[in-house]
Amino acid sequence: MIRRTLAALTSLLRHTTIRYRLIGVFIVLSVMPLLVSGYISFVESSQAIQTQAQIFATEIVKQVAKNAQLRMAQMDANVETLILSDRVQTALAQYAGKGAADQAQAQAAMPSILLNAYGSYDYINQMYFLNSTNQIMDSQVFAKLGQSVQTFAATVPQLKGKPYWGTIDLPSGKKGIAMTRQIFFKANNRVAGGLYLGLKPSHFSEIFEDVSLVEGSEIYVMDALNGSVIVESKARLAKVNDEAPHLDLIQAMLHAVKLGQPTGSITYENKSPDATMGRGNIRVVAVYSQIPSTNWFVINTIPYDSLIAEARSVRNTITLIGSLGLIAAIFLSFVTGRSILDPLKQLMKLIQQAETGSVQVRMTHEGNDELTVLSQKFIDMSVKISRENELLEERVHERTLALEKANQTLAELSATDALTGIANRRQFDEVLANEWRRAARLSQPLALAMIDIDWFKKYNDHYGHQAGDECLRRVATLLQLCVLRPGDLVARYGGEEFVFVATATDGPNALRIARNFCETLQSQALPHAMSSFACVTASIGVAAMVADQDHLPEALLRAADHALYQAKALGRNQAVLFTKPEA
Ligand code: GH3
Ligand code: MG
Ligand code: MG
Repeated sequence: MIRRTLAALTSLLRHTTIRYRLIGVFIVLSVMPLLVSGYISFVESSQAIQTQAQIFATEIVKQVAKNAQLRMAQMDANVETLILSDRVQTALAQYAGKGAADQAQAQAAMPSILLNAYGSYDYINQMYFLNSTNQIMDSQVFAKLGQSVQTFAATVPQLKGKPYWGTIDLPSGKKGIAMTRQIFFKANNRVAGGLYLGLKPSHFSEIFEDVSLVEGSEIYVMDALNGSVIVESKARLAKVNDEAPHLDLIQAMLHAVKLGQPTGSITYENKSPDATMGRGNIRVVAVYSQIPSTNWFVINTIPYDSLIAEARSVRNTITLIGSLGLIAAIFLSFVTGRSILDPLKQLMKLIQQAETGSVQVRMTHEGNDELTVLSQKFIDMSVKISRENELLEERVHERTLALEKANQTLAELSATDALTGIANRRQFDEVLANEWRRAARLSQPLALAMIDIDWFKKYNDHYGHQAGDECLRRVATLLQLCVLRPGDLVARYGGEEFVFVATATDGPNALRIARNFCETLQSQALPHAMSSFACVTASIGVAAMVADQDHLPEALLRAADHALYQAKALGRNQAVLFTKPEA
């Protein structure tokens, strides 16, 4: 299985050029681990940062909520003391009295009581006593404000003397923070009226003004009942924040109220102020904590982007390093590829040149790597081979020449008579057959003469065999001189017998040549003591006929032989032309 996979991979690689193989390997080795580890560290660190920030933010909102509650509790205690004081109890009793004069007197006394109690509290905006129908007991009060306070007090649940903190719609259209509570007479525990305090939101915003937050994060207090932001930091106020509260957040908080889980978090998408410009939504992590015994929640919102900004910057650095690594990998693989491919290409070129037999094979680069060494070795080898080849060719040429010469000698030897140096019997047979065919084709006469030395046996016996040989050589030379025409052939037929073949020659002309030879030989006067002519002579039988396909050259030979026999019979030292015997 592993082997098969390896084989498949190898064959796949072989279909890819070395350069791309190298690029692949470089990228896999250098960039992949970096990118993979970068991705993993990004995911993990952004998760860790988010968790960390969430824990941190939770602590902050819990702390702020606790501080707010403390301030409220302080206020509550303060109020408790005031309403149980004799001045308040007396004034309220007077207001509850029957006389209109009493009521007016009480009404007149109330503002000074409140001013006395809370005049130095700059975060208290409004302070009023309310009657049983939630109307402000101060007749001087601004009617619209009175209406707002009455509406607010009417919606407040009766908490039997416990203070209620809530949000009021002020005539200005703004939301205000208000605290209200019922007042009872100490004497009979009957309802005497109510107290209403309107507070500046800054009283609470002071709590989180100095809290250090994550960049881009915001902290504020929201009323979960109507989604209105009632306390916000100065920074948030300055931002002109008119965005609608997010429904998911409000729902989560209402749900938390129901379940009695005062602290929690939620992630939601907020419409980006740049959404119209195509930037998309902003992911927000909101952490909230309820201020006990209110519907108010301290909320800390953190844009997800600024949360993971650090992780993102690490990721970007890794990506940058990865990209640089990628460029370096491509560059390195390109250069390495070239360093391998160039000598390879050159080696291929060298092989091609060597194949076409070029001897001027040269290296164009230097180096110590295996491929360069291989190329150099290849050149050395091909130069050596080419030199060996040249030597071999030279030797073959020499040998061929020698062989040709030997063959020629051999041919000459096989066609030549060793003793006389003229053509031998073999050559004669061949020439006669050829000339016969040619003459037959052309319908030309062909002449043949047979020459036999007279009384040669006696010559041998008298002068010795070696002298006989010398005599044969002289006769042969002389015969060659007498038969001058090129194309005619003079040969030794055997023993002391010679022949000549004369082409396109009729009988009389051949006879003339033969007679001329007899005369020339005699005129040489080669001594022959045993001859009646006292010198070496020869008898010649001549025959000539127009060759034809029906006859063989043997016919001509027989005729010449017959004529020779006649010449011997007629006394030797003469030439006789064969004539057909009379029928
Ligand atoms: P005729 O006049 O009838 O021709 O008589 P002849 O003696 O010439 O005839 P014969 O054929 O009886 O003799 C031929 C002799 O030629 C016999 C042989 O000794 C001699 N002879 C043949 N070949 C050679 C040779 O190569 N060298 C020498 N020295 N003698 C040869
Ligand atoms: Mg003879
Ligand atoms: Mg003879």
